[in-house]
Amino acid sequence: MIAALSEKTEAIYQQVIARNPGETEFHQAVKEVLESLSPVLVKYPEFAEQKIIERICEPERQIIFRVPWQDDHGEVQINRGFRVQFNSAIGPYKGGLRFHPSVYLGIIKFLGFEQLFKNALTGMPIGGGKGGSDFDPKGKSDNEVMRFCQSFMTELYRHLGEYVDVPAGDIGVGGREIGYLFGQYKRITNKYESGVLTGKGIGWGGSLVRKEATGYGTTYFVREMLKARKDTLEGKTCVVSGSGNVAIYTIEQLMKQGARVIACSDSHGVVRHDEGIDLDLVKQLKEVERRRIADYVKHHKDAHYVAGGNIWDIPCQVAMPSATQNEINGKDAATLVKNGCIAVGEGANMPTVPEGVRVFLDAGIAYGPGKAANAGGVATSALEMQQNASRDSWTHEYTEHKLDEIMTRIHALTYETAAEFGAPGNYVVGANIAGFIMVAKPMVALGLV
Ligand code: GLU
Repeated sequence: MIAALSEKTEAIYQQVIARNPGETEFHQAVKEVLESLSPVLVKYPEFAEQKIIERICEPERQIIFRVPWQDDHGEVQINRGFRVQFNSAIGPYKGGLRFHPSVYLGIIKFLGFEQLFKNALTGMPIGGGKGGSDFDPKGKSDNEVMRFCQSFMTELYRHLGEYVDVPAGDIGVGGREIGYLFGQYKRITNKYESGVLTGKGIGWGGSLVRKEATGYGTTYFVREMLKARKDTLEGKTCVVSGSGNVAIYTIEQLMKQGARVIACSDSHGVVRHDEGIDLDLVKQLKEVERRRIADYVKHHKDAHYVAGGNIWDIPCQVAMPSATQNEINGKDAATLVKNGCIAVGEGANMPTVPEGVRVFLDAGIAYGPGKAANAGGVATSALEMQQNASRDSWTHEYTEHKLDEIMTRIHALTYETAAEFGAPGNYVVGANIAGFIMVAKPMVALGLV
């Protein structure tokens, strides 16, 4: 079900590997898109003539900077900051910041590359970018996080602007971090430029539903995939990996759709609760107390916690990987299919390794790849930008309706594109081709810039 690279795309891929040594996640993300593109080059020869793929694979700008800060003991700490401004053909660079010890250039570039197609699929005028740091907010005090964010923004601010580059959150960056970043930007520039960051809090420029948007959106996408198969989420047994922002609001929306969520996790272990996950407790543990998911079983004696457990071994009908990249390997994918999984909705970015994707596609299950399925987060960021630009704030109901409309449209677009290019039901092909064309055509129109 996945086409091999053609001679042309293989040559481009080899060049990407040679020019970006050691950046394995970036190579993986590029290869996955290139595998879909051969028929596009046949239909649009101008893309090959203008070397659009080669240009897209090279970020417009990559910024790497030192972030010095002082911890609570007065000791000096040094982290590395990144912002990769990938592509601005359809709007200002847009994409989150990830604070996690695993961050290096290859992770930021894979995320930025995925982001530009994802952002195009939303139909909103936003280009692609991503940033972050190897700083680990876990175990740090609020004051340490604030000092880090202030130092990070003291360097980054000169590269941002509502018409230039608009960061938001990703792993390790939530409302708290966006607040400190926005505060420092405002202080340095002496401007209340709301549209420079998204994921802001309510009362200082944030949008209702932004917090819920990635999880809700991914669930809407799965709802649409099932609808196309004359099925629904009602009564389905679901497993959601992670317990951060994306996982929490995926669980919430799955429950609203009448599904039963029996497991979630964090980087240390897995909680299984056959009665159904107690979402209020997860929110309390994770959003308020910033604790480990292991503490869940202290409150529910009938729930089970397995340290280091593999959540994909738990039989389910719907799997929602919502933690991080490459969290489902080929074996996990095979286990899920064998256990009766009929749908996968990726709330995380690139959570399934290529072999796992192959397993899902070969099995013919409804597989929603991240760049389509989790686009609701950044789409709602674009709605936040709209509200900021018009100095308006919309109701919860209106914003949620807009998000639902956007996700339904992305589903239809990716579904129809897959069919048009001879791969019906294959949302990987649909998302890659539709996203690519939406960036490539404007690039041709804008000339060699
Ligand atoms: N980090 C999110 C993503 O992967 C959101 C980005 C944004 O809102 O700009 O799409």
